Amino acid sequence: MVHAWRIVVADGMTDDALARLRQQAEVVEAGVEAAAGADALIVRGRSRVTAEVLAAGRPRLRVVGRAGVGVDNIDLEAARRLDVVVVHAPLAATISVAEHTLALMLALVRHVPAADAGLRRGEWGKAGLEGRELFGKTLGLVGFGRVGRAVGQRAAALGMRLLAFDPLLPADAIRQAGAQPVDLDTLLAESDVVSVHVPLEASTRHLLGAAELGRMRPGAQLIHTSRGGIVDEEALLHSLEAGRLAGAALDVFETEPPGRTGLIAHPAVVVTPHIAAQTAEAQARASADIAAEVLAALRGDPLRWRVA
Ligand code: NAD
Repeated sequence: MVHAWRIVVADGMTDDALARLRQQAEVVEAGVEAAAGADALIVRGRSRVTAEVLAAGRPRLRVVGRAGVGVDNIDLEAARRLDVVVVHAPLAATISVAEHTLALMLALVRHVPAADAGLRRGEWGKAGLEGRELFGKTLGLVGFGRVGRAVGQRAAALGMRLLAFDPLLPADAIRQAGAQPVDLDTLLAESDVVSVHVPLEASTRHLLGAAELGRMRPGAQLIHTSRGGIVDEEALLHSLEAGRLAGAALDVFETEPPGRTGLIAHPAVVVTPHIAAQTAEAQARASADIAAEVLAALRGDPLRWRVA
C-alpha cells in the first residue's frame, strides 16, 4: 500500500504501536535527521529535537510526538515559530513514576541498597542499618500535578501526612486531593521527606538550591524523580556532607549519565538511572497514546495533549 504520510520513529516504540502507525503511514525507524522528508517525528527522551532538526524538516514536517511526558528535549519555541505541532503522552507514566518514587522512599528509609550490598559481600552486619518508619511522618510534595498526587495517594495509605506546594493550583484543589497547601518555606521546614514533582523550566531550575535545602529539617530526606536541574546537586552534596540531610534518593541528574560523582558515591544516597517511567505498562501506554495523538494531528482532528 502506498501511504501519503511518512513518520520517523527515532527512539523506538512498542510493536503494537508501530503496527498501528503502519496501517496509516510509511514508518521509518531512524535518527531525528530523517525528519527532513517526513510528516511526523516521534521521539522519547533520548533524541534532541533542536531548531535545526525542525527547520530541516519543514515545510513537510508538521508534527513532533514525544512518547512520554517531559518535552525539555524538544525546542518548543522553535516549533511554535516554525508551525510544527508538538504533542506528548502525559498520562502514560504517572503510576510508574509514583510507584518508583515510593520504591526509592522505602529503599532510602530502610537502607535497602546498603543492606543488600553488605549481604552480597558475605556480611551479616546490622550496624548502621537501623531504619525509620514512614508512618506518621510528613511528606512534602513540591509540585502537586499528576505524579505528585499519585505519590500523595500512595503515601497517605502508608499513614503519612501530606503537605503540597504548587502555586499554580487553587488551594481548594490541593485540599480536596488530601494534602495541605503550604508555601515552599513551610513545606521545607515541616517535612520529614521532601519529594520533587515539578517540570524543568527556567523558573524551576535549581528550585531546590543551597538556600532551600538549608531550610529543610535537620535529618530530613529528599526524593527526586522529576528532572535533573531542579535540585542543585552540588548544594545537595554539601547538605549531606554537613550531616544536615540524612539522605537523598535520585532517579534524575543534571547530566545524564552522571558518571561516578561525589553525590552518587555518597553512602546516604540511593540512585537509579532514570528508570522511573521504565515499566512495560508505562512504555506500552506511551507508545499507544502518542501513536493515536500523532495520527490525529496528521488528520487534523482535535488534540488531547498539544504542548506547542
Ligand atoms: P504535571 O504537569 O501533571 O505536574 C507538575 C506540577 O508542577 C503542576 O501541578 C504545576 O502546577 C506544578 N508546578 C509548576 N511549576 C511549579 C513551581 N515553580 N513550584 C511548584 N509547583 C510547580 O506533571 P507530572 O506528570 O506530575 O510530572 C511531574 C514531573 O515528573 C515532570 O518533571 C516530569 O518530567 C517528571 N517525570 C519523570 C519521569 C522519570 O522517568 N523520572 C517520568 C515521567 C515524568
